[in-house]
Amino acid sequence: MFGLRFPDNTREHTDSYYASTANLAARYPVLHGDMQADVVVVGGGFSGVNTCLELAERGFHVVLLEARRIAWGASGRNGGQVIGGIGHTPERFRSQIGDAGVQCITHMGVECVEIIRERVARYQIDCDLTWGYCDVALKPRHMRWFEEVQREQQASDYPHALALLDSSEIRQTVNSEAYIGGLYNATGGGHLHPMNLCCGEAQAAAQLGAEIYEQTPVMSLAPGSPATVRTEHGSVTAKFVVLCGNAYMQNLVPRLASRVLPASSCVISTEPLSNEVARSVLPKNVAVCDPRTALDYFRFAGDNSFLFGGLSNYTGLVPANYEQLMQRKMLKIFPQLEGAAITHAWDGQIGIGINRMPQLGTLSDNIYYIQAFSGHGVAPTHMMARITAEAIQGDQHRWQAMAGIRHWPFPGGRYLRRPGLAIGMAYYKAKDML
Ligand SMILES: Cc1cc2nc3c(=O)[nH]c(=O)nc-3n(C[C@H](O)[C@H](O)[C@H](O)COP(=O)(O)OP(=O)(O)OC[C@H]3O[C@@H](n4cnc5c(N)ncnc54)[C@H](O)[C@@H]3O)c2cc1C
Repeated sequence: MFGLRFPDNTREHTDSYYASTANLAARYPVLHGDMQADVVVVGGGFSGVNTCLELAERGFHVVLLEARRIAWGASGRNGGQVIGGIGHTPERFRSQIGDAGVQCITHMGVECVEIIRERVARYQIDCDLTWGYCDVALKPRHMRWFEEVQREQQASDYPHALALLDSSEIRQTVNSEAYIGGLYNATGGGHLHPMNLCCGEAQAAAQLGAEIYEQTPVMSLAPGSPATVRTEHGSVTAKFVVLCGNAYMQNLVPRLASRVLPASSCVISTEPLSNEVARSVLPKNVAVCDPRTALDYFRFAGDNSFLFGGLSNYTGLVPANYEQLMQRKMLKIFPQLEGAAITHAWDGQIGIGINRMPQLGTLSDNIYYIQAFSGHGVAPTHMMARITAEAIQGDQHRWQAMAGIRHWPFPGGRYLRRPGLAIGMAYYKAKDML
C-alpha cells in the first residue's frame, strides 16, 4: 500500500520489538489531587527519567508526570545505539561558549556513555548492554572523514581506541559488500534495550523516593515561584519545573515547540536468528550507523533479532508501506537475511533542532527544559539530565556551557517549517548520493 500515515499516538506502548520483549515490571498510577514537591519533571523518556533519578540521588523530592507510559516516546522506540559525543561537534559554537565551553562539552561526550555504564552496574538494570560500535563508509569521502575523526581523538584525551578498517577488514566486523571501510570503537560505544534501560532507571528513581505518575498529561503550566503544572485530574506545585516532553510535547510551550521539529524514523525487527547467522552478519556484534543525513542504523538485540532502522524524514509522517521499504533496504545490504521473518515495524518522533545541538535552558528562573537531540540522544540525554540536576542543586558551571548555545526557531512558523525542512532534507539526501 502506498501513501502516508500519521504516527502512532495511542496511550499504551506502540507495537514494537521493545514493548513485546520488555521487563516492564512496574506500572505507575494516574495523578489524582494536588501535590507539592521540590521539583516536578514533565515527560518520562530518558531526559525526564534521568533528571528525576539524578535529583532523587541528591535527596530532592521529585514528582515525574508522564502523559502515557514510561519510555512511550523516542526513548522506548529507538535503535538502542549508545554513541558518545554531544550534538554535531561543539567546535562550531566556540564564539558563543569559549574554549572552556567547547572543552566541557567535549568531555561530556565521553561522560554520557560512562553514565550508562555506571547506572546499569549500580542499579543492576537488565537491558542487554553490549559494547562495540562501528561507523561504516559508503564512499571514499566518508573514509577521509573517519581518518580525521581518528586523528582528532588520538590528539585529545579520548580514552577509547579507534580502529580504521579498510575494505577487507570491514567484512570481519560488518559483513556486507555495501561498505568500503569503517571506524571501529570496541569499548566507547555499544547497544542496549532502551525501554528496559529507561524503565529500570525509573524504578531506581522510585526506589529512592521519587513519585512517578503515568497516563497523566500535563495540560498547562503556571509560572511563578513556586510554579504549578496542571494535569487532567490534579496539579503539582514545585520550586522547580523541568520540561522533558521533547518532540512529543506539542504546543504546551509554543516557544519550545517552535525550536524542535518532530521528524519520523522507522525501525523493523526480524525473528530471533541463530548465532551462526547473526555472527555471519555482524561478526563482532556491534551497533552500526552510516554517516548520511537519512542514515541506516542496525544491530542485533540480545535474543539475536536483527533491528534495522532508517527512513528518517522531516514531514513527520511515515510511508504506509514502510515495513516493505525497510525490508528491501535491509536485504540489499545483507542478502544473507533473505527469509528472516519481520516480526515488528514501528516508528518514532525524533526532536530535530536547527543547529543539531541539544537545547537546554530556562523559561524563567525556576522552569528548565531539555529537548532536541536530533536523533542522537540515548547517551546525551543522560548527560543533559545530570547537568540540569547540577544546576538545580546550585552548580550551573557545566549547564551553562550548554545553555550558552543559541537556538533559533525554525523559519516558516508552525505551518511552513515542515515543507521548508523537507526540501532541505531532500537537498542533503541528494548530496549524500554524490
Ligand atoms: C526511531 C528512532 C530511532 C532512534 N535511534 C537512536 C539511536 O539508536 N541512538 C541514539 O542515541 N538516539 C536515537 N534516537 C533518539 C533518541 O531516542 C532520543 O534522542 C531520546 O530518546 C530523547 O529522549 P527524551 O526523553 O528527550 O524524549 P522522549 O523519549 O520522546 O520522551 C518524551 C516523553 O514526554 C512525554 N510527554 C510529552 N508531553 C507531555 C506532557 N504534556 N505531559 C506529560 N508527558 C509528556 C511523552 O509521552 C514522552 O514519553 C532515535 C529516535 C527515534 C525516534
